Amino acid sequence: MTVDNKETSYVFQKQINDKGLLCVGAKGDGMYLVLENPHTKEQKVLFDAISGAAVNSLPHQDPEITEAMGQFAKESVYTFGAYYANYAAEDLGKFLCDKSGGDFASALWTSSGSEANENAMKIIKQYHNELKDYKRCKFISRKQSYHGFTTGTLAIGDGSRKYQFADILIDESKTPKVSPVYPYRNQKPGQTEEEYTKELLDELEQTFIDNDPSTIAGMIIETVGGSTFGTSVPTKGYLDGCREICHKYGALFMLDEVMCGLGRCGYPFTYKSPEFGLSSGGPDLCSVGKTIGSGFVTLAGLLISPGVKKVFAEGSGSILGAQTYHSHDFNCRVGLAVQKKIYRDNLIENVRVNGAYLKEQLKLKLKDAKYAGDVRGAGNFLSVEAVKDKATKEPFDPKEKVGTQLGNFCFERGMTIMGVTGTIESKLVNNSELVCVGDHVTIAPAFTFTKEHCDFIANTIAGAFADLEKKYAA
Ligand SMILES: *Cc1c(COP(=O)(O)O)cnc(C)c1O
Repeated sequence: MTVDNKETSYVFQKQINDKGLLCVGAKGDGMYLVLENPHTKEQKVLFDAISGAAVNSLPHQDPEITEAMGQFAKESVYTFGAYYANYAAEDLGKFLCDKSGGDFASALWTSSGSEANENAMKIIKQYHNELKDYKRCKFISRKQSYHGFTTGTLAIGDGSRKYQFADILIDESKTPKVSPVYPYRNQKPGQTEEEYTKELLDELEQTFIDNDPSTIAGMIIETVGGSTFGTSVPTKGYLDGCREICHKYGALFMLDEVMCGLGRCGYPFTYKSPEFGLSSGGPDLCSVGKTIGSGFVTLAGLLISPGVKKVFAEGSGSILGAQTYHSHDFNCRVGLAVQKKIYRDNLIENVRVNGAYLKEQLKLKLKDAKYAGDVRGAGNFLSVEAVKDKATKEPFDPKEKVGTQLGNFCFERGMTIMGVTGTIESKLVNNSELVCVGDHVTIAPAFTFTKEHCDFIANTIAGAFADLEKKYAA
């Protein structure tokens, strides 16, 4: 069957009237994707600067991992986690709990970040039930955040993905939202970082008070905001302040590090960053995903602090919620092999060192770019926000979809990137038209990226901004 001369796709995803480009392999050092046009069979090789959705920690087809996977396939056995788990799930839990320096004591392994966060909401609720504190039923999160595509996580998330489903989600009265940390736009002229942080924390505390603090179950935020508004890092003291306010009112404090964590921002856990992290200790819960299986397997997880674990251990001793693929033996084996390799080869340090170089190069090469408003992020999780006017920070007309355009320009120049519209806000106008204001591009290459890769990435992004200038030259 053809539609508009295009064959419809057998994969019900994104665009069904066109198969799009299909991946047929990786190339070279595993940092390159080979894409094929299914109609013409024409191929294109692209440097993978975004690793899908910031998924790869290791390169595609890493031979050490693929070799190990062959062995794991022979050794692993599927069991239902509710009855019998396995050594791999235990070992991977211990590995990350050890790396956290005691911040976590247990882990739940799921197949996706959405499930990890969805389970987290239910674990937080159960935690309060264990304490016979049954009234707590609200989750505070932030505007412009993303926590997954299940209905629970969409409700605590924000941005363009949720509007169509608003009437089937947990009511907004139970999911109050506070402002994200976004100094580029929201720190007022003359306001110090400290004052800006205080403003954000005052807003959070007021949100607790306005929503009856005794009914707040927890706060869930991304340590570094991911895809929706482009890797804006917390201000100093912000995370400490959030945790303190949560605990003051008896709520749990949870960080979502599905996209930004496990080395992506240059530290084993992003909340441990000496620049913007917690001054000591960790959150009550922390979700991880994406890089943990590096795209080799569908793996994500939820890490549980000793304090939260203790409440369950000394209470009912059981966690409600067993999904078919929790603690999946094969997936956990692969996840552990990926993590061990990252630590053995000091790849998180590579992210920190080369990431700093890349950020510097981006700033340097975009210094005179007319439309490059802000370069931000940590480790190799970096974004450039595009603006129509650098002085006023005025965004482009949403109809121009500049974020998408920048993504296309990078593609033409041989590189994958995440080109996003809706950086500042997304709203439904007249109940039907989705307007996404603000534009940015985000990168997140595999942790093995080199200085040469950095130069290529910075040059390509600078080239894409030059393409944009050429297009809008009056
Ligand atoms: C990707 C992402 C999720 C959802 O993970 P999936 O594996 O896509 O379900 C949740 N939170 C954040 C911050 C993410 O980036």
